[in-house]
Amino acid sequence: MLYRRFGKTNLKLSVFSLGTMRYLGSEEIAQQTIFKAIALGINHIETARGYGNSEEYLGGAVTSGLSVCRSQIYITTKIPPTPDAETMRRYIHESLVRLNLDYLDCLGIHGLNTWEHLDWVKSEDGCMQAVREAVAEGKVRHVGFSTHGSLELILAAIDTDLFEFVNLHYYYFHQRNAPAIQRAAEKDMGIFIISPADKGGKLYTPPAKLRELCQPFSPLALSYRFLLSDGRITTLSVGAANPEELIAPLQVADNGGELTQAEAIALAKLEQQQNLALGTEKCSQCYACLPCPENIHIPEVLRLRNLAVAYEMTDYGQYRYGMFENAGHWFPGMKGNRCTECGDCLPKCPENLDIPALLNDAHERLQGKAGRRLWG
Ligand code: SF4
Ligand code: SF4
Repeated sequence: MLYRRFGKTNLKLSVFSLGTMRYLGSEEIAQQTIFKAIALGINHIETARGYGNSEEYLGGAVTSGLSVCRSQIYITTKIPPTPDAETMRRYIHESLVRLNLDYLDCLGIHGLNTWEHLDWVKSEDGCMQAVREAVAEGKVRHVGFSTHGSLELILAAIDTDLFEFVNLHYYYFHQRNAPAIQRAAEKDMGIFIISPADKGGKLYTPPAKLRELCQPFSPLALSYRFLLSDGRITTLSVGAANPEELIAPLQVADNGGELTQAEAIALAKLEQQQNLALGTEKCSQCYACLPCPENIHIPEVLRLRNLAVAYEMTDYGQYRYGMFENAGHWFPGMKGNRCTECGDCLPKCPENLDIPALLNDAHERLQGKAGRRLWG
C-alpha cells in the first residue's frame, strides 16, 4: 500500500480509503470489512451522518479494537451544510457519540452542492462557526468538503480557503472537474476521489466492449491507474460492502507511478474508439450549451450517451440517467425528453450537434428505471 500526503492536513493517507456508504446490512460484515481493510494497509475510513447505520457500525469497530491503533487510523465523517451554527454543533456532537470518538481526524461538509450552501458556509454565524469551535476544542482536526456541484461552484468553494481537502467526482470517464483538481493542488489541499469504481463507470461489472478495449488490463484497474498516476490525487474511495470486495481494487495499491506505455496505449485506444463510434455526434463536454431553459443537464446526458454508444456502458448510463429528477441537488437537471426543441442551445454548440435529436436518442437508450441514492 502506498501512502500520500493529504495536502495541507499533512496526514499520510493510504492511496485507497474505505468508504462505508454501503454498510446498510449486517454490523458484523461491516466490522469484518473495516478490520480487513486495516490489515491490508488502509488507514483512512470515511463515513457520513447520512449513510444509514454506517457511523454506528464504525463506532462499534472503534470500541471493539480500532481504538487501540487510533493514532494510526484516520477517520472522516461528513455532515451536510446547515444555515445555522446550532444545528451543526448538534450534528458534530451526535456523530462523535455514534462513532465513539473524542475527535474526528477530518470533518467534511457533505454535499456543498448549491450556491446557497456556499453562502451558508461563508456566513459568519452559519455552520462553519460551529466547525471552528469544534476545531478550537480539539474535536475536529481538519476540515474539507465534498461536492456534486458545478465546476464553477467547486472552484468558488476551494477559493474560500476555508478547507484543507476536497472530495471530488473525477474519473477517466468524467474529467469535467480537472480544473478543480488543479486548483485544489495549487492550494495544497488533499484530494479524495469519490467512488471511482461505481460512480466512475460501474466498473465492477464492465461490458464486454469495454473489457476488450482495455486489454490487457481490466477496466477497473486501468481507471484506478489513470487516477493513481496523477500525483496531485491523494486517495481513492473503495466502497467495499464486504471483505472480498477489497481484493480487486487493492491489486494496484502499490502502483502509483506514471502510466506505463501499455497503459497509455490502452487509454489511447479508448479515446480512438470514442471518436470512431461517435463521429460527428460526439459531445466534447465543453458545457457551452448551458443553461437550458428546461434545466436539462445537456452535457451530462450526452456524456452518458457517449459512453453507451462508444463502450456499451448502457447499464452505467441507465444508473446515472435514472437519477435525473430523482436526487435533488445531488444530481440536478431534467431528463432529455423534457426538450421543447426551443433551439437556444444550438448556436452555442461548437460541435454543431443536433442536441434535441441526441437528447431524444439518449433518453430512448437510457431511460431504464428511476434511480436513487444509496443513502439518505
Ligand atoms: S433545444 Fe432543448 S436542450 Fe436545447 S435549450 Fe431548448 S429545451 Fe434545452
Ligand atoms: S455545447 Fe455541444 S459539445 Fe459542448 S457540451 Fe453542449 S452539446 Fe456537448
